[in-house]
Amino acid sequence: MTAQRVPQPRQKKSQAIAAFRSTMANAEDLCRREGAKLTPARRRVLEILAEEGRPLGAYDMIEKIAVATGKHPAPVSIYRALDFLLENGLVHRLASRNAFLACAHGHKHEEPVVFLICEACGTVTEATSRALHREIALLGAESGFAPHSQVLEITGLCRSCGAQKAAVG
Ligand SMILES: [Zn+2]
Ligand SMILES: [Zn+2]
Repeated sequence: MTAQRVPQPRQKKSQAIAAFRSTMANAEDLCRREGAKLTPARRRVLEILAEEGRPLGAYDMIEKIAVATGKHPAPVSIYRALDFLLENGLVHRLASRNAFLACAHGHKHEEPVVFLICEACGTVTEATSRALHREIALLGAESGFAPHSQVLEITGLCRSCGAQKAAVG
């Protein structure tokens, strides 16, 4: 048996804090620009997702809010907050898992989003692509179709799970 390299927790933590800060700063910028309101309920849902850094279902969010505040919020209030966050591109929905993920990228709502989902560890990486945006726009134009949500979910193995699998053989 060989010892496995343990990921550096300190680095991971500072990265997570940076991602959290950039998500919240993006949200505040966007709301100021668009004249939208980041109400306490919307902010709380976004904070929970940004802190988690991985996809969460609506009921997981309710549980987390209940733990933090001692009160169970009504599901409808969570969904309403999520609708706002989705519509403004601050949160994405993973259809295959019916889960939500905070976005720190500050890209436009109409830009396509690609999710790389690891089947082994569940890590979800978000990527965007200008080239893909052009291709999808072209595809839509050819069919006279106006695309609204453009989310691609790709499952497979992340770098570290792929490397582990290769090492095990
Ligand atoms: Zn995004
Ligand atoms: Zn993985």
